[in-house]
Amino acid sequence: MLKQIDQDSLIIVNEETCQQIVSDAEAFTAVQDIFAAMARDDAYNFPVIREAIGYADALYGFKSGFDKAGKTLGVKSGGYWPGNANKGLTNHQSTVFLFDPDTGRLQALVAGNYLTAVRTAASSAVSINALARSDAKVLGMVGAGHQSTFQLRAAVRQRAFEKVVAWNPHPEMLPRLQSVAEELGIDFEAVDREVLGAQADVIITITSAFEPLLKAEWIKPGTHLACMGTDTVGKQEVASALVAQATVFTDEVAQSISLGEAQHGIAEGLIGEQDITPIGKVLNGDHVGRKSDEEITLFDGTGVGLQDLAVACVVAKAAREQGLGTLAAL
Ligand code: NAD
Repeated sequence: MLKQIDQDSLIIVNEETCQQIVSDAEAFTAVQDIFAAMARDDAYNFPVIREAIGYADALYGFKSGFDKAGKTLGVKSGGYWPGNANKGLTNHQSTVFLFDPDTGRLQALVAGNYLTAVRTAASSAVSINALARSDAKVLGMVGAGHQSTFQLRAAVRQRAFEKVVAWNPHPEMLPRLQSVAEELGIDFEAVDREVLGAQADVIITITSAFEPLLKAEWIKPGTHLACMGTDTVGKQEVASALVAQATVFTDEVAQSISLGEAQHGIAEGLIGEQDITPIGKVLNGDHVGRKSDEEITLFDGTGVGLQDLAVACVVAKAAREQGLGTLAAL
């Protein structure tokens, strides 16, 4: 017998609908709330699995967690398929599964590619909102790939930025970032790294680098850095001396020290785990955050599964309310 489909049935939301219904502002709030819940121990991430599967050169894995306060339980599953571009598909592929924490029933299947970019941009935006100087005017962008335009759009909502200065190891990628800055009505200038450091009040790094791209001596006092590209063992975007010089915040300390930007400062003995503060503590009022206009603050945004679940939850709820997505019975 066919199962009855009703409002409580599983909802399936595709990429196009995700783009249609999740705004930067909603993603910001969802990510801010989940960082705060993590710092209160109301929400926690389960150990991450990521494996080279020995087929199609693919990396496959899952990130999972539970937010007791928001009643969000689920998993983001997917990874990286380097051959996809030749097939007209995105190399990064992911899907979020949300479960009812009271019963374990599958509640929602939400496409995860667009949401990954939105939740990553929301993460650095939360850090800028909490830690950047209020008079920040110049935004420095290091990186010009897929994530960079999302980062730029979310960042400019946090401060009255008047100018974007940008550098990328592959300069031919910069015009796409420039066109987004122009669309947002902000001056854009491609510069070298020393100039970027000398001008920027806030710097976002979002590259796949495995070596430091920014030196400590290039960064001026009072800068806030959001280091977003380093999410794997071995990756690195800024000098470990800069991490040691800065006051370091993160989404999750366990990831920051093992696979985030702080991994190198830790390995070299320049900083200890106790020097890294979960940003949720600042959001909850348990840490003051920036202490002076001269302090360099650095957010090590490693990316946690609960961010994905939080924005997927926003999407699933909105899709049900607006009659979007597809209802199905398992
Ligand atoms: P992309 O492939 O679209 O762009 C890659 C960027 O890195 C470009 O700016 C490119 O010029 C630069 N780059 C490539 N190879 C490099 C190298 N060897 N050295 C230095 N720079 C190099 O990638 P994307 O989707 O924009 O993602 C950028 C980074 O962000 C990746 O490392 C990705 O893993 C990471 N990421 C992090 C999170 C998080 O939550 N922290 C989430 C998504 C992606």
